[in-house]
Amino acid sequence: MFRLDSKIALVTGGSRGIGRACVEALARQGATVIINYVKGEAAARELSDQIVAAGGKAEIAGFDVADTAATESQVDAIIKRHGRIDILVASAGIAIDGLLLRLKDEDLDKLFNTNVRGSLTVARAATKSMMRSKWGRIIFLSSVVGEMGNVGQTGYAATKAALIGAAKSIAREYATRNVTANVIAPGFIDTDMTAGMTDPQREAIHKLVPLGRTGKAEEVAAAAVYLASEEAGYITGQVLRVNGGMYV
Ligand code: NAD
Repeated sequence: MFRLDSKIALVTGGSRGIGRACVEALARQGATVIINYVKGEAAARELSDQIVAAGGKAEIAGFDVADTAATESQVDAIIKRHGRIDILVASAGIAIDGLLLRLKDEDLDKLFNTNVRGSLTVARAATKSMMRSKWGRIIFLSSVVGEMGNVGQTGYAATKAALIGAAKSIAREYATRNVTANVIAPGFIDTDMTAGMTDPQREAIHKLVPLGRTGKAEEVAAAAVYLASEEAGYITGQVLRVNGGMYV
């Protein structure tokens, strides 16, 4: 079940964290995975080499999702090289935290340009080929805070909530082309993004999570594999929460 042989998958922000775990999981299921990175070229290359050495299929593609022209030309080049993109996991994202009163315009621009515009431009470029092949899977990475909010995360939460509205709209727009669009909303997952948390902050979070622990990137990646699979073909416009019960 959930095999992805012969599928072409693009994972943005694929060199580390949740994106990296998605790359590994998709490749294990047989997909050819294109690993997007913006800063982590060495890590992306190492990951790609590892997958190929293990008998899988992977390559790297460096571009900044906030740069629309670069994104469009790189996604077009991937489609030209492989004939199509079947699966997009848009994991590239940034967090800039701060109370609303202290949120700077430039921080809001950075957040929205990367998390929202970046995810949508890459989806727009990838769906061109999905429409032609009448098969596609778009998966956005939202967050538990996009649904429940959080003190000090107004800007970040707004971008993550925006992706839910976007995925629901894409789901309706592309349904006749057999393209599904879904969102994964992780809770607190152990990655570099959350590595800066202090022990007291971590303990406070554990108390909010019925399962009593933070999540693993692999647990988010398993949800991505599922949503990317043939078996999830009747699921679209949904939010799959991977949060240990933190928000139900
Ligand atoms: P991370 O910081 O470890 O990885 C994010 C990756 O995105 C990095 O490799 C980074 O270089 C890349 N990236 C950032 N800006 C980019 C750009 N403009 N173009 C291309 N790549 C870019 O973060 P993570 O924890 O793996 O988070 C992955 C996604 O999951 C993010 O969208 C994040 O908002 C979301 N998320 C994370 C958590 C968590 O607890 N870690 C919780 C909820 C949601």
